[in-house]
Formats: sequence, structure tokens, C-alpha cells
Amino acid sequence: MTNFWNTKIEFLKGIGTQKADILGTELQIFTFKDLLYHFPFRHEDRTKIYTINELEPDMPFVQLKGKITQLEMIGSDKKARLVAYFSDGTGYIELLWFQGASYQLKNLKSDTEYLVLGVPQFFNNKFSLVHPEIELFVSKETQTGFLQPVYPSTEKLNRKFLGTKFIAKCIQLLLEQPNFVIPENLNHEILTKYRFISRQDAFKNLHYPISANALHQAKRRLKFEELFYIQLQLLKQNRNQKQIFSGHIFNSLKLLTNFYEKHLLFELTNAQKRVVKEIHTDMTSGKQMNRLLQGDVGSGKTMVAFLCMLIAIDNNAQACMVAPTEILAEQHYQTLKEYADKLNITIDLLTGSTKQRNRRIMHERLINGNLKILVGTHAIFEDKVQFENMGLCIIDEQHRFGVAQRKKLWEKNTQLYPHILVMTATPIPRTLAMTLYGDLDVSVIDELPSGRKAIVTAYRYDAHRLRVFGFMKEEIEKGRQVYMVYPLIEESEKLSYKNVMDGFESVSRAFPEYHVSIVHGQMGGQEKEYEMQRFKKNETQIMVATTVIEVGVNVPNASVMIIENAEKFGLAQLHQLRGRVGRGAEQSYCILMTKPELSKEGRKRIDTMCRTTNGFEIAEVDLELRGPGDMAGTQQSGVVNLMIADLAKDGIILQEARNMAQQILEKDENLVLPDNKIFQVFLSIQKENESVWSRIS
Ligand code: ADP
Ligand code: MG
Repeated sequence: MTNFWNTKIEFLKGIGTQKADILGTELQIFTFKDLLYHFPFRHEDRTKIYTINELEPDMPFVQLKGKITQLEMIGSDKKARLVAYFSDGTGYIELLWFQGASYQLKNLKSDTEYLVLGVPQFFNNKFSLVHPEIELFVSKETQTGFLQPVYPSTEKLNRKFLGTKFIAKCIQLLLEQPNFVIPENLNHEILTKYRFISRQDAFKNLHYPISANALHQAKRRLKFEELFYIQLQLLKQNRNQKQIFSGHIFNSLKLLTNFYEKHLLFELTNAQKRVVKEIHTDMTSGKQMNRLLQGDVGSGKTMVAFLCMLIAIDNNAQACMVAPTEILAEQHYQTLKEYADKLNITIDLLTGSTKQRNRRIMHERLINGNLKILVGTHAIFEDKVQFENMGLCIIDEQHRFGVAQRKKLWEKNTQLYPHILVMTATPIPRTLAMTLYGDLDVSVIDELPSGRKAIVTAYRYDAHRLRVFGFMKEEIEKGRQVYMVYPLIEESEKLSYKNVMDGFESVSRAFPEYHVSIVHGQMGGQEKEYEMQRFKKNETQIMVATTVIEVGVNVPNASVMIIENAEKFGLAQLHQLRGRVGRGAEQSYCILMTKPELSKEGRKRIDTMCRTTNGFEIAEVDLELRGPGDMAGTQQSGVVNLMIADLAKDGIILQEARNMAQQILEKDENLVLPDNKIFQVFLSIQKENESVWSRIS
């Protein structure tokens, strides 16, 4: 059986070594199994023929039957395009060819019935099909198949006639092989509970469905299976971890109580209290904590972090906090130092720019336990940095760090692994969090400190810049400060730089009476820090910057955020940037500057930002727009490699799959009951195959 699936595709009739090579390099299809897992991204219903008057904007693929009434070459030479006016008696549309125009001109005939297939474009109140498939119409009886699979392909494959049609034929051949057997991997209980079709039927119908319903059933089953095994593995890992690794028991709360009663200047929100309790419960459980703390920007994670550090220190352990950039580390250090000083707790900062001599002293104080709190960048990960008794590691802004780095912190205490708290301000929809962080317990701060005024968000066209400048002036006159942020243009660092510099110049010219700071990616760490400090001290009133200020920067007096070329930012980033204001008592504003024409997606992003400040709501829209692969935080996770499930759409299936996996593990942790052996077997097969699954850890 395994041998069959590992057979090289060149042994499939009609493929051969040459074609196999191309499929390998273009689509990473090497074996029968790879071919089977090359899923169609849609099916074309060849039974349905639309009429032109039925067309609507935003329709997917359609099939039309009609005649060409007129052919016209427009333009000349390389830029020539062919327009065919196509009519079916209910209306007419244009068929357009930009490539191979003269070839089509020679071959297309008027007064002949054609079948054309494509995705209708709607522009200037007219429909057109660009580069449609076109073939002579043959009456229905002679057509084969109903739902034809359409496969991902590449330009090179298409050119060599090895595109979707060729792949479809190969897969059809594969499904007809006498050895084609796919073993079941769900048990009887699940199959009956959800009335799933067998795995073998699911694969067959996913490629060549016998009906629309069969296709639906195939997808439903395979999505469940994919999500179920991910959850099973993550939950199993989570349980193992808890069993295997004991944790520090931090019972004493004297220090925390002392700080809380004597030094805390505000009342904690209920969400903060709840989260501190959850973390404290973990810290007294005797097991190592691995917890994710999600909280929107400004929800007060730093205070929670500090209170938890106090618990560790109270129990003769040390604590550290790792941030992704020097600016952030520096800022955390300032904030935490203010608190720590009140209790005479020692604290220091370690970053890439820490001088060698200071480092040596610091290392010593960490080893002998005189230094209680260490704040820093990934410099902390270095093996040289050792502690007397590390008890709690906090990582801020998880999405910049990978799982492997998280593990590095474990080794800061080999006697007893430290508790780990990962904090993120990137709100992640529940479905995604369950998959991304299935191995972490999750706490959420879902409440902002009271008394915050909601940030007023508006968008303005570039043409209204003078009015925006006028508004900035009014706010600065009131004593506030302003951020002006420019996008990083990934393809061109030069262009980003130019944009920021141009912005800086025009602002300096428009506001000669004020001081303007600038921070961008080409500045060194110290230079950046210097400018940040000037802004923080209100020595400058306007900060022109690229997205380096995105995370964590805290200047409560800055109450206006202008985002230039806002359409170039993703939603998560816009939300992060907006979170830089609204930190003080004053009314804050965020102005999104755009050009007048926006893409549909760009419009939706801007509208969403103007409609809500709720990070979770924004994250849901982001997930819907971009899919999980592009969302912040998913890059290193393997979730991008889901074969069939879609985290943006399959939340319900995911929840079912997770519940099922949980139930099974609760009853039979090691999967040894006869009914569950099948899971154990399949998990180990997966582990062997270096596949998507093994990358999720
Ligand atoms: P984030 O969750 O984005 O890291 P911070 O920890 O930076 O948020 O907190 C943002 C601001 O809110 C800080 O100035 C902090 O002192 C303040 N803050 C935190 N908790 C409260 C609270 N319960 N009440 C009032 N202000 C708070
Ligand atoms: Mg923060």
C-alpha cells in the first residue's frame, strides 16, 4: 500500500520522465500521493449554461453558448488585442485576447456555435471575458462528466499543455488504478456520529464528484479529518507537556499584595484581575505554565506582566521580559523600573547595544541572584545569559518570535523549567488561536481601562491635506503631539525612504513654528532612540516615521495619528498603529490618508477601521479578506499549509474537531483502546512523513 503511494508519477501512463520532471519542479508533485493531494481549487459545472442576461457582477466562472457577431483587432504590433463580440440572443458581451490575438483571429469563425468559459468581468457597465476558454459547441449527450475539476497550475505548465486539463486526466487515471486503496483514518464512532463518507470515497469525490452533494460531503469529511488530526496532536502535546514538566510553585503573594495596596495608582480592570488569577493558579499548580495572554493594544498587559513577576520574585525566583526591538525593550524597562523602584527590586536592561563591560557585571548579578528582573531583546536568548533561579519568562509580541525561540527560554533554568507567558497585542480570531497556539493555554484581556475615550477615526483624500494640516495645528496648539506614519514599501527601501523624507520636508515647511522628529529604518538604534526620547519629552511635536513605531511605543500625550497611503497597510498593522494614540485622557484621532480610487479590499479595510476599534472584530475581517496564510503570526506556524480546511470559513468544523479530539484524549490519553488505535497509527504515519503536520509544533 505505502509502496503504491510512493510510486513516482512517471510510471503513470502518459506522464513519463520529462513531464514528471516539469510537474516536480513546477508543482512539487513527485509521487502518486502528491498527485492525489493536488486538490482542485474549484469545479466547473459543465451542465449549467448561463444566458448573457443572467450575468451579474462578481459571478464566479460561467459557461455561455452563442455566436461571434464581429471580430476586431485593436491597436497594432505587440499591443494589439482582439475583441470578439459574442451574442446569445439575450444580450452581447466582449471576448478579449491580449495574447495570441492573431492566432485567435485566424481560427475563430462567425456563424458558428461556441461554448465559452470564463470569469465575467464587469467594467463600464459592460461584461467581458478575458482570455476565455472557447470551444465548438457539441450537444450535451456527447459531453462527459458534470463537475469538472480545475487544478492549480503554472504558466509554464499551461504553455506546455500540462495545465489543469492534463493534471485532471492524470488524476482520473490514478483513481482508476487497480491498487487504488485509501485506508480509513477515522473510527467508527466519528464516522457514524457525523455521517461521514469513507476516506476513499471522499478523495474520489473531491476530484471527480458524482454530484454537487457528493463534493460537499467529500470536503466536509476531509476538512474535519485535517483539523481533527492537528487538534489531536496539539492537545496531546499540551497534555504531555503538563505531565512531564513540573513547575515552580509560587505560593507567597506578600509582595504583590504590598504593591497592589500601596503603590498601584489605578484600579485594575476586571479582565486584568481575572487574568492575574489565572496565571497565579498556573504558578501554584506544580506544572510548568505555557500561557498566551491576548490583549488589545492599551489593555494593560504590562501591568499584568509586572504583577506576575512580583509573584516569582516573592518566591525567590527571577523574571525576565523579552521584547522584539530595542525601542520596545527600552520602553518596557522604563515602565517596569518605575514600578520596581517603589519596592526596591533590582532591574536591568540587556540589548544588542549594551556595552561589554556592563554585560559582564550583569551576567554576574544574574548568576548570583542579585538582579531580579532582566528586560531585553533577543540578546537574552544567548547561552551566556544564565540565572541563579529563573522562574518566569515573559515574551512580548509573540508574532515576532518563533516556537524555537520560546523553547530557548526554557533552558534558562535546567533544574526546573521556568513558567512561560507569551503576550500578544495582535488579536487573533478564536479559530486561528486554537490552531496556532493549541499547545498554549489562552487568557484574554477583553476590556480596556475605563475612562478611555474611543479614538475617532476618519479618512481623507490626499487632496484635503491642507485641512488635515489645519487640524494638526489646532491639536498641537492644545498641547498635543502628532504621529505621521508612512508605509514601508517592501520592494523598494529607497522609495520608502524617499516617501518619509518628502513627508518630513513638507511637514517641516508647513509647521515652521514646531519641532519635527523623524525615525526610519535606515537610522541606527541609538539615533532612533534619541529621536524617540525627544518626542517623548515633548521637545518635538510631530513625529514623522515609517512603521518602526508600530509596536508598543507609548507616548500618552500623542493624540493624533496620521497614516499616509493608508491603503497600503494591512488591517492588523493599521490597528496596531492606531493603538499608538488614545493612551492618555485626551480625545484622540486617527486620520487615514488615501488616494481617491481604492480597490474593493482597500475600501473594506478603510471602512472597517472607521467603523470599529475592537481588535478582535478587525482581526475577523482581516482573516476573511486575506485568509490565514497572510495574517500576522501565522508565517512560521505551518497553518498556511492546510490542504483543504480554511480557517476563515471552517470555524464550526474546527470547533467540532477540537471537541472530539479533547473527548477522546480525556477518556484515552494514550490512544490504546481498540477504537482509538487507528488514531495512534495515523499519527505515527504522519510523523514519519515529513509533511505539513510535523511542522506544527
Ligand atoms: P498594552 O496592553 O498595549 O501593552 P500597556 O500595558 O502599555 O498596554 O498599558 C497602556 C496604558 O494603560 C499604560 O499607560 C498603563 O499604565 C495604563 N493602564 C494599564 N492598566 C490600567 C488600568 N487598569 N487603569 C488605568 N490605566 C491602566
Ligand atoms: Mg505592550
